Amino acid sequence: MVYFDHAATTPPDEEVIRTVAEVMARHYGNPSSLHRLGEDSEKLLNKARAVCAGALGVKAQELVFTGGATESNNLAIKGAAWQFMNRGKHLITTRTEHPSVLESMKQLEAMGWEVTYLPVNPEGQALPEQVREALREDTVLVSVMHVNNETGTIQPVGDIGRMLKSCSPRVLFHVDGVQGFGKLKLSIPGSGIDLYSLSGHKLRGPKGVGLLYIREGLKLMPLMAGGGQEGGFRSGTENVPYIVAFAKALRLAVEGQEERAQKYYKLRDRLLRGLEQLPQLTINSSEQGAPHIVNFSFPGMKAEALLHMLEEEGFYVSTRSACSSKRSEPSRILLEMGKSKEVASSGIRISLGDEHKQADIDALLAVLRQSVQRLQVLR
Ligand code: PMP
Repeated sequence: MVYFDHAATTPPDEEVIRTVAEVMARHYGNPSSLHRLGEDSEKLLNKARAVCAGALGVKAQELVFTGGATESNNLAIKGAAWQFMNRGKHLITTRTEHPSVLESMKQLEAMGWEVTYLPVNPEGQALPEQVREALREDTVLVSVMHVNNETGTIQPVGDIGRMLKSCSPRVLFHVDGVQGFGKLKLSIPGSGIDLYSLSGHKLRGPKGVGLLYIREGLKLMPLMAGGGQEGGFRSGTENVPYIVAFAKALRLAVEGQEERAQKYYKLRDRLLRGLEQLPQLTINSSEQGAPHIVNFSFPGMKAEALLHMLEEEGFYVSTRSACSSKRSEPSRILLEMGKSKEVASSGIRISLGDEHKQADIDALLAVLRQSVQRLQVLR
């Protein structure tokens, strides 16, 4: 079995699994408790926060642990909109964001906010000029993802952030960094980013844990009222085992970043060159995209049919993002990039991970070649 669905979730690192078990068993105190067991957990939590801050190049007090990037995105967007509603009620995002961003925006629209959804170009990018043109007096926040989870498109978030800071420094900038972190370099300081979301399980950490970077001094309306943990931004007893394991995963992701990116680019390019040999296929990912995601279509063939054929041969791939793969409509991301309905209905995503070798790519290509021939006969 070869697992090619790392953009959906990654297999946890062995050290991560050991850490969860160890912290759960031995350090079960509530970090808010005053006795020694509580203090012990609080120390672990502080250490984990410092490790994450080091990995991101930010201050420990700028990080809030959450229950994953869906929550981080909701907190960033709704928390900012509610906190700054006196400033204005206009938000800007792109049409190809993750549902946790788009649905948060839709909720706010239903409550009276106005949202500009920027179109993307055929590469899937929204450009800084488009953001600048959409800015209004009452714009409070711009939210753009770093890397698209379906196609690997890299958004020019550094350029957008710097443009915002020079044109409209009061407008907040949120970046969903889930698919970019650990693969691409992005320095938060100096990039104009005020809010930045990450998820544990895309980085070989546990599911159900993530973080939100909140620039020092910035206030957000919390989504959950309660005991005031996490600086008041996120009430609820902290999930210490997952947070400590997440910190470990983050550190490992940063340490191996350069090497990982180079390795992935090599594998990805080999895959792209192989896919180009199959004239029936359309490649939807750009050469300039992220190193770990390749999206292609076999027009006229339902993506699910090819997915199950590949599964029978021992390859796990994805039809699109995990959050919408159970729906049978065409991919909205591919449609937004201007692809035909036929292409958008037959998209397959291959996403790479640490364990992959050249031989895995070659084996996948060989099976794809056969599958495409078989499907053509059946058509
Ligand atoms: N943003 C992006 C770009 C994602 O790929 C995902 C995971 N599909 C999320 C946000 C949500 O992350 P989580 O699963 O931690 O809620």
